[in-house]
Amino acid sequence: MGNSEFKQSAGLSRRSFLMGLAVTGTAAVGAGLVGCSPSSTGASGAEEAPAGSAASPAASASNVGADANGNTVYYSMRRDWLGEAPSISDDEITETHEADVVIVGAGYAGSQCFRMACEKGLTCIVIDAQQKDGFETYGGQLGHFNSTWQEEVLGVPKDTFDPVDFIDSYQLQSAGRAHPDLIKQFAHRNGEMVDWMMELQPDLSAVTGVNSLNSSGTYDYKKGYFWTYPAVINLGSGAFETSGAFCTASVDKGIEASPDSQAFYGYSAKVLVKDGEAVTGVIAQNDADETYGKFTARKGVVLATGDFSSNSEMYSALCTEVQESNPYTELVGSGRDGYGIRMGMWAGGVMELGPRAAMGGCTSALPMGTFGAASGLWINKYGKRYCNEAFGVPFVAGVQSARQPIDSNIIQVWDNGHWREFVQNQALGHFNLSDISDAKMDELAATLQSAVDAGSAGVNESLFAADTLEELAGYLGFEGEAADNFVEAVQTYDSYAAAGKDEDYAKPADMMFRISEPPYYAEKLQRNANIVLVTLAGLFIDGDGRCLDQNFEPIEGLYATGNASGGRFPLQYTAPMNGISIGFATVFGALLGEHLAEQA
Ligand SMILES: Cc1cc2nc3c(=O)[nH]c(=O)nc-3n(C[C@H](O)[C@H](O)[C@H](O)COP(=O)(O)OP(=O)(O)OC[C@H]3O[C@@H](n4cnc5c(N)ncnc54)[C@H](O)[C@@H]3O)c2cc1C
Repeated sequence: MGNSEFKQSAGLSRRSFLMGLAVTGTAAVGAGLVGCSPSSTGASGAEEAPAGSAASPAASASNVGADANGNTVYYSMRRDWLGEAPSISDDEITETHEADVVIVGAGYAGSQCFRMACEKGLTCIVIDAQQKDGFETYGGQLGHFNSTWQEEVLGVPKDTFDPVDFIDSYQLQSAGRAHPDLIKQFAHRNGEMVDWMMELQPDLSAVTGVNSLNSSGTYDYKKGYFWTYPAVINLGSGAFETSGAFCTASVDKGIEASPDSQAFYGYSAKVLVKDGEAVTGVIAQNDADETYGKFTARKGVVLATGDFSSNSEMYSALCTEVQESNPYTELVGSGRDGYGIRMGMWAGGVMELGPRAAMGGCTSALPMGTFGAASGLWINKYGKRYCNEAFGVPFVAGVQSARQPIDSNIIQVWDNGHWREFVQNQALGHFNLSDISDAKMDELAATLQSAVDAGSAGVNESLFAADTLEELAGYLGFEGEAADNFVEAVQTYDSYAAAGKDEDYAKPADMMFRISEPPYYAEKLQRNANIVLVTLAGLFIDGDGRCLDQNFEPIEGLYATGNASGGRFPLQYTAPMNGISIGFATVFGALLGEHLAEQA
């Protein structure tokens, strides 16, 4: 099934909505991937795998409970999506190539892995289903901290952020489930890796970012419980019109450093090649003439094939919390088709342990409105406050919103006297306002005035203003007990904000702002529990990017990085900054390239 089919069925309008709010850069489905699967995911009766290509150790698709070897991993997981490795015989192979490392996928993670490994002295091959011309990647915001760009463009000194704070805060938000060594490496080396990536930019000052700081030029990153970071680069800026062009330029730079290295665009990887238990290469199809090539790797094969959100069967089966947070629906995101992950599993790899995350208001529901996903006062359909709105970053706080009635709205409330302070003091988590300048506040003031002018009709029937809380409750449609609850909830919240102590849900005092001066404002926000961009779960890997087998032991010669790999977002999308996903993909890709070069 091709990505385009899924895109049309569900992804577009929701994606546009999200992109309009917070996502910039190129966002398109890799056209080259459409139809790249050799057979449907439920294929049965595949021919016996030829000598040297990867047979599935996981036996047949119907084998839920235990695999052919008696392993019980996935005893509870539906896996009709896995299918079986295609069989490609040796006489179908018309070209052969060999290199130290073969990387499948030239997106964010694969391109950086390739360039780094090339510059560290390896000969590499990268294969991508897309053509080089018009190479497309999703989004383009790269989140990181402590780079030269941060200092020169944002004016925040390079050593501002303590890596140990990042490790601590990220693991707290992930309940300790993120891979400790991955988070350690990112924390200590991401700024250095971004400096290296930005060598492609002749003029650093032309590289734009996402966040503007407040008028004092300062940013308190230790706000609330968890730390958030302002350094987010737009990869499609400066010398590059798109982030896809940045990726292909990175590959070109790798080839400059290692002239025997090669990029094969328009080739779809089909199956990994094994020698005993070790992975030694990959067979890929040239999409132009449908011939096959065998690409042998002396040191290792890297799967950098992205996520599986456009494979609805896989997504629904693996991301169970997303599935359960919504009435039954065919889950579908805007990303890749998961074929690379399935290839890894046919070769003996396993998915990371659940719950498995996706990016968007899925395992959490983000109330997003005039102030982005701000953590003000949130009220449910019964007129009651229901959680600490500032617990972690917006996505983490949003888990309680996903547990509110499915068709209901979440109401955000604020007042005329404190809203600027409230908006300008949000943590910089993903989907919060990136522009908190005074000029932006003046723009927002005009929007609020239009709510005052609109009276009971509200702006777009969602943003209301009134001189009393009772009147505001009426505008919002609250009646009877729910209206009384609403007034009481606002007054109670205001008293906690005044006292600096939230007796109910322990919201940090520096994230609570009073709601005491009319006009009062309220905005009806959508629960948004079924919007997703990409999935964020992947193959179970160790801290060196090696894929693990069913016994959680490394498979010789097989690596994964980027969204094809796990360990980064173990509970849900935890975003201490915009662009953490591309930040992780590029930095981990580069670090894996370095690691491979260090191997004997
Ligand atoms: C609309 C949208 C906007 C987004 N915006 C942002 C953002 O601004 N910041 C952020 O951090 N995250 C963003 N994301 C998420 C982000 O794009 C992904 O997390 C990121 O792309 C992951 O990088 P990757 O290298 O793992 O995979 P990708 O960038 O998806 O690269 C995978 C590559 O593998 C290739 N491939 C796949 N299968 C095969 C195969 N069988 N054979 C050969 N090649 C194959 C694909 O063609 C592709 O080029 C966004 C996602 C969407 C959908």
